[in-house]
Amino acid sequence: MTYLAVAIISLLLGSFYNVCIHRIQSGKSIVYPPSHCPSCNHTLGPLDLVPVFSYMILLGKCRYCRERISPRYPIVELLTSISYILMYKTLGLTWSFAAYSVLLGILIITTFIDIEQQIIPNILIVIGLVTGLFFSAISITTGIADALLGFCLGFGSLLIVALLAKLLIRKEGMGGGDIKLLGMIGLFLGWKLTLLTLILSIYIGGIFSLFLLLLKLKKKGDYIPFGPFISLAGFISLLWGNNIIQWYLWISS
Ligand SMILES: [Zn+2]
Repeated sequence: MTYLAVAIISLLLGSFYNVCIHRIQSGKSIVYPPSHCPSCNHTLGPLDLVPVFSYMILLGKCRYCRERISPRYPIVELLTSISYILMYKTLGLTWSFAAYSVLLGILIITTFIDIEQQIIPNILIVIGLVTGLFFSAISITTGIADALLGFCLGFGSLLIVALLAKLLIRKEGMGGGDIKLLGMIGLFLGWKLTLLTLILSIYIGGIFSLFLLLLKLKKKGDYIPFGPFISLAGFISLLWGNNIIQWYLWISS
């Protein structure tokens, strides 16, 4: 029963994240005006706003102007729902679930803005830093010392990677947004899981980029945003990081 409630609430959250993705990109207010079609500006009714189902029933087109709706809308809604259900399965209905819900929301919104516009908005980082600091100060995510270590490790490690890339290959390999994002994640996860997030993001990013090159979807030298890999790695570390570390220590002992 609670799973059903989590599924429904997270679908609605996903639909809110879609609004954030669209409006943060275009610099508009998140609360006003009410949802409307980006192409014909018609205000959307309740029937147009049911997560995933509206998109399927309307066959991916606006009811008023028949313009195609981006598949990003149902994708974000489904992805949000699945990730919150997974997190609920691991954490249960606890205070840490509430704290990490904020982080997860920021990771999802950041991922899609980074894919569409290759930027990670500072406003999202700031919201993450403030909530991360708050929840570690009251020891819900991790202790404050561990959180600050996580922040320094996340921020510092990618800063070094970025400086080295600039020095060695004279290219901006790592954006400032990526550096701030991993620092912010570190504040929520503490230093151990941040180190794991860094390693996982390099692996996932490397394998994914290789596939894009092999499938000729990208050319050598094309820009591939790194933020989504950091976000995915952070999410994996949050849910299964301690198991992965234990397993790694076990096989290497
Ligand atoms: Zn329309």
